[in-house]
Amino acid sequence: MKHSDHYDVVVVGGGHAGVEAALAADRMGVRVALATHRLTALGEMSCNPAIGGLGKGHIVREVDALDGAMGLAADQAGIQFRLLNRRKGPAVRGPRAQCDRALYRAAIQAMIRRSGVEVIEGEVTDLISDRDRIRGVIIGEEPLRAGAVVVTTGTFLRGMIHIGQEKRPGGRIGDAAATRLAARFDDLGLPLGRLKTGTPPRLRRDSIDWDRLEEQKGDEAPSLFSFLSKAPAARQISCAITWTNERTHQVIRNNLDRSAMYSGRIEGVGPRYCPSIEDKIVRFAEKDSHQIFLEPEGLDDPLIYPNGVSTSLPADVQEAFIRSISGLETAEIARPGYAIEYDYVDPRALDQTLSLRAAPGLFLAGQINGTTGYEEAAGQGLVAGLNAACHARSEASVVFDRADGYIGVMVDDLTTRGVSEPYRMFTSRAEYRLMLRADNADQRLTEIGRAAGCISDERWDAFSVKRERLAAAKESLSNLSLTPQEAARHGLAINHDGVRRSAFDLLGLNGIDRDALSGIWPELETVDQECFEQLANDATYAGYVGRQQEEIEQLRRDRSVSLPVDFSFAGLSGLSGELREKLTKARPASLADAAKIEGMTPAALTLLRAVALSEARKAS
Ligand code: FAD
Repeated sequence: MKHSDHYDVVVVGGGHAGVEAALAADRMGVRVALATHRLTALGEMSCNPAIGGLGKGHIVREVDALDGAMGLAADQAGIQFRLLNRRKGPAVRGPRAQCDRALYRAAIQAMIRRSGVEVIEGEVTDLISDRDRIRGVIIGEEPLRAGAVVVTTGTFLRGMIHIGQEKRPGGRIGDAAATRLAARFDDLGLPLGRLKTGTPPRLRRDSIDWDRLEEQKGDEAPSLFSFLSKAPAARQISCAITWTNERTHQVIRNNLDRSAMYSGRIEGVGPRYCPSIEDKIVRFAEKDSHQIFLEPEGLDDPLIYPNGVSTSLPADVQEAFIRSISGLETAEIARPGYAIEYDYVDPRALDQTLSLRAAPGLFLAGQINGTTGYEEAAGQGLVAGLNAACHARSEASVVFDRADGYIGVMVDDLTTRGVSEPYRMFTSRAEYRLMLRADNADQRLTEIGRAAGCISDERWDAFSVKRERLAAAKESLSNLSLTPQEAARHGLAINHDGVRRSAFDLLGLNGIDRDALSGIWPELETVDQECFEQLANDATYAGYVGRQQEEIEQLRRDRSVSLPVDFSFAGLSGLSGELREKLTKARPASLADAAKIEGMTPAALTLLRAVALSEARKAS
């Protein structure tokens, strides 16, 4: 197909980062091309067809709040929805969906078709540069000129697939590695490292003895990802659970020297929180079994994904250990598991827009930045796509900070601290997690997205209606109140401290729910359930959130506090030797600069702030 030879933004790679980057730039109203190997692989999930989970579900909701694709596609394709951590507080609950792989791809491809994004098939082999500025890419032999380029090549940069002792170049099974682009990155002098990840064998559905397995049902009331979705689109199914046993572990232990990961054939570091089955057997030697979720790859797909046994053992050992597991005695492996090693770029070379400091106009997003997971890739794709559009139009950039959301936390972690293993999101990474909940992602971000220009009118209208409904519901709850004595007469056990509490305050107390409040104030029955749930979460954390907001304001004010040019960090007690050394070397001019130093802690920043303020007082 003949395509234009100039775009505002060219995105390289049609995985999760690339799709969000291209669609985000398109929503910003610029001319976008998405250059990728195969149109039919757009939205492909290289590993498990599941979206969300702890920390990751928050990112999907944030991507959705910024009008991205992932949440809507997962709702279209979800065949089992579960809210993880349901028994814990609302701040750390994570929505997750097992998806139908083909439906997910179809949903993403439909969104791309409906957008203005032009898809160009082929391998991008080079970048066009003009001194240090990036001006486009070479696809096949053809130049594609662009105001900004976003590279999202996932595990493809010098990808090497390992199955036991065999190894061969590949970006993922069935796809070629990107070696020419990797060589170009070498020429640019980018700081490259090596990481690895792995995937389990796929089993034939009809070779599994399902009757012997424990059924795992989805939630009765599914928690969807998109703030625009009302109900799952696909038929809902159950998954199943089984366990490894001593015999499984023995087979694996006996063959560790044949595992690519354990025989020294792989130099890259793997994801600590998503270990291979070999890793689990060695690192958790005291455990006599490990759980395996048997998850269908789709409604009509003949393959089952055994979640929990990713491996780089040879195919014969994979078969032996799989067949030692209850329910899998006659299981047939349709495709063996494998490990993949690939190049990544040290993300400390990027700024907070995910643009390379050394090559203006070149943005990187996704697994290439040392992360793992579809959701992390999508969140970065969105940031890079928005900012590539801003760059192409010479407009101010759009930056999310740690107090805005998990996307801001991730970008800040990556660009200031770098990675020593594949980075995945956890709720514990977000210091303001009580405020940054999955349920309020739209309240936190949709307005910011609208100001940036990436929110459609349809989403904005739906958001505005919800915001008004929430404000009205909150006002109703705040205007109704009672004393502890009056509460006791209605059977509510609260402190007899003489304090009059509003219905909103009461909703934040343990054991007081909508029914209890509607029993006292029947007019609350008209408030819709979605608003009630959101306000109950707000009320639960109201006290902490107030304090966190003060901290955030303080932090934002303090960022500009300057540090004396000649200050001797070496003589500062209360800091670790390592931090003293780093500060002496980096000589930060302000607290904001100090915060960017790898390994900087909140306690160290507090100390630096006190020092800076006292030096400023002495000087005045
Ligand atoms: P990808 O989804 O890999 O997309 C890259 C895209 O770039 C592809 O469309 C490709 O065709 C295109 N591309 C690459 N090079 C070029 C080029 N030169 N020219 C044109 N197009 C190009 N994540 C987890 O969270 N848990 C896991 O257990 C896990 N296991 C994994 C196991 C394996 C074997 C693999 C391959 C990945 C695994 N992942 C896992 C990672 C997950 O797949 C990625 O994090 C996610 O897909 C990254 O998204 P991305 O957009 O960065 O890259």
